[in-house]
Amino acid sequence: MKVLVTGGTGYIGSHTVLCLLQAGHDVVVVDNLVNSSRESLNRVQELAGRNVVFAHTDLLDEAALTAVFDQHAVGAVIHFAGLKAVGESVQQPLRYYHNNVTGTINLLRVMDAHDVRTLVFSSSATVYGGNNAVPYVEKMDIGADNPYGRTKEQIEDILSDIGAADSRWHIALLRYFNPVGAHESGRIGEDPLGIPNNLVPFIAQVAVGRREKLMIFGGDYDTPDGTCLRDYIHVMDLSEGHVAAVDYVASRAGVFRWNLGSGIGSSVFDVLHAFERAVGHTLPSELAPRRDGDLPAFWADPSAALADLSWSTSKSLDEMCQDHWRWQKNNPNGYAAP
Ligand code: NAD
Ligand code: UDP
Repeated sequence: MKVLVTGGTGYIGSHTVLCLLQAGHDVVVVDNLVNSSRESLNRVQELAGRNVVFAHTDLLDEAALTAVFDQHAVGAVIHFAGLKAVGESVQQPLRYYHNNVTGTINLLRVMDAHDVRTLVFSSSATVYGGNNAVPYVEKMDIGADNPYGRTKEQIEDILSDIGAADSRWHIALLRYFNPVGAHESGRIGEDPLGIPNNLVPFIAQVAVGRREKLMIFGGDYDTPDGTCLRDYIHVMDLSEGHVAAVDYVASRAGVFRWNLGSGIGSSVFDVLHAFERAVGHTLPSELAPRRDGDLPAFWADPSAALADLSWSTSKSLDEMCQDHWRWQKNNPNGYAAP
């Protein structure tokens, strides 16, 4: 099948493009490179030994998107493209709603006009908000706590309405937990702009000497070691989940929701120590006040994805950190030239 991947030069997108190519699919990537590099696809092509079509296109440009669909016989879409920084979304909500929600509406209109109605959407565990108890289950009411999360929630609502109104749509809503790690080759990985907000990219930059020390946000939570618990998932496991989801919905109409997580809660210290094992020495860190908005614990109940997609995670926290470290060590400046 020819799969069009929006956001395919980004972190999760590039790993998923590789998995799609290895599974025998043809791929067309649409990305405006606002948060990624074209170099990621060069490396994906080199790893897969196959070529990808790249369209340097913004989802906000409906005419340009139409031209891409006119040129390629697309069978399904995996939609990663979006802005994803929670703090930035609080500062720039209009930009986030326009990019993520309007961009998705444009995509859906162009898909519909071209009779392409199979879609896998990157949602997020953040849609569950703070009012649910762990582990999170797909049937829980959702209610995101910030503008970024609300763009995901609104897109889920739009897709649910479309699926209810028109039985020709085949839609998967994938709620990811905390993706980390990199392809085991160390050739592709996460390349955050500026100072990373997320734990593992920050630790990786401490390990490579770009940051002085890790600040551990809060050591007094009601958790086993006092730090927050999260459900970390290897980006390759996550990518395989997308291939399983697109294959599943390709032959089934309706709207399906799946958590993609490991079902295991790991603390900040668990992650730090796993990363230290990967690097081979301790890393500088310091306890700091809690970060606003952090929930003490969240992890997935991933049993629906296992039952429906025969998918579950296979890689441990140690493997996530080893692979993340290999990528960071071999590419201290990400995709930028040294
Ligand atoms: P990323 O920033 O690396 O990838 C997103 C890609 O979308 C980038 O390549 C960016 O250039 C592109 N893009 C953004 N707006 C666009 C537009 N208007 N037109 C075309 N391209 C556009 O992010 P990622 O970590 O790979 O995340 C992929 C998706 O998964 C995002 O939708 C994100 O919200 C979601 N998600 C990510 C995480 C995470 O922790 N990384 C967790 C849950 C959900
Ligand atoms: N965290 C931390 N220091 C950092 C970044 C994150 O202690 O520099 C903690 C954060 O408070 C949370 C966990 O690491 O408890 C995971 O944070 P991340 O931002 O990666 O994921 P999220 O909280 O968005 O799930």
